[in-house]
Amino acid sequence: MGRLQIDHIQPLAKGGVNTEENLCLACELCNQYKWIQTEGLDPESGKVISLFNPRNQNWGDHFTWSPEGTKIVGITDCGRATVEALRLNNNLAVIVRKNWVQAGWHPPNFRDY
Ligand SMILES: [Zn+2]
Repeated sequence: MGRLQIDHIQPLAKGGVNTEENLCLACELCNQYKWIQTEGLDPESGKVISLFNPRNQNWGDHFTWSPEGTKIVGITDCGRATVEALRLNNNLAVIVRKNWVQAGWHPPNFRDY
């Protein structure tokens, strides 16, 4: 939520570089939660897993929307670890998505990815 920021997928603090392949857009809140994390805990297996990389992984392979369209559900270890690490279902995000659902804007069509 909020303005989009440029995120380093591999943080500069961990040897990441300023090339396009290492950059993505993230909302301010997600970017703050991500911080310098590159891995997260999969709550199902308890294993430490690399976070979702929007440059070389497909969103729909790792996530789906809850039936009411307000929560992101991880469907792989990577998806679940990323939902937890970036707190993708934080209260603000869910409230905003509820409004988007009511307005008919959400969830987005998976064919758009
Ligand atoms: Zn976000």
